[in-house]
Amino acid sequence: MRIVNAAGRLGLVVDGGMIDVESASGGLFAPEIQTVYGRWNEFVAWADAAPAEPDRELANDMLGPPAPQPRQVFAIGLNYFDHAEEAGMEPPTDSMVVFTKFPSSITGPFATIKVPPGSVDWETELVVVIGEPAYRVSQADAWRHVAGLTVGQDISEREMQFRPPSPQFNLAKSFPGFSPIGPVLVTMEEFADRDDIKIGCELNGEQMQLGRTGNMIFSVPRIIAELSSTLPLLAGDVIFTGTPAGIGWSRVPRKLIQPGDELVTTAETIGTMRHRFVARDEVGT
Ligand code: ZN
Repeated sequence: MRIVNAAGRLGLVVDGGMIDVESASGGLFAPEIQTVYGRWNEFVAWADAAPAEPDRELANDMLGPPAPQPRQVFAIGLNYFDHAEEAGMEPPTDSMVVFTKFPSSITGPFATIKVPPGSVDWETELVVVIGEPAYRVSQADAWRHVAGLTVGQDISEREMQFRPPSPQFNLAKSFPGFSPIGPVLVTMEEFADRDDIKIGCELNGEQMQLGRTGNMIFSVPRIIAELSSTLPLLAGDVIFTGTPAGIGWSRVPRKLIQPGDELVTTAETIGTMRHRFVARDEVGT
């Protein structure tokens, strides 16, 4: 199953378009996609028996983020050996590096993103959306708590991120638009192998990253087990799972996102996001 947030309405993707879930369910489910994660198992059962004929057209410019208002956003740092190496850091193997991206930074798969002053960089990541809440779950049970997968960019302003006296991951990765996710949320049965998904990105047509989630140091089940050993993961929460090698900050010469650039992000089975970057106004937004 593939679901979208299209013009602010929850849609089930079918051949030729989408089914508007609120209309097709006679109002059983609300149009706001974020609310469906709190009734995930009920929704999956309804969707299994839903009509197969689209009742609306679907176009890229209608699409918003598939989880626009999570209560918690988690992000995992240094989760690929090749990325830890390019960052000049020791790869963590016992203890995950965890930070947050504040929810106001979430945007859609075809949004225009404003570039603040500094050194703005990309990080292509597999993104997990939680369905059934998870607290103190085992790795073996973890996938049952995932509603689906999407792809994201953990956009980062590197100067603030590494500014002394203490790293500022949370703020530096939370400018407006710095957490684009989409274009759709895909449930696990759609993947040939949910534990090994090809992800990558191109900047202005040039390949920058290409990796496989099978190379993550902490797998999705391990991330869920470890996070949930401390706190509950709530329905609709979002987890950025870390980026493979190929960020701009580690390149020689260094490469950064400039106004006018286009970043195209792709994940196998999930699809493609396309972002244009523009200069931030000096005052206001
Ligand atoms: Zn990241």
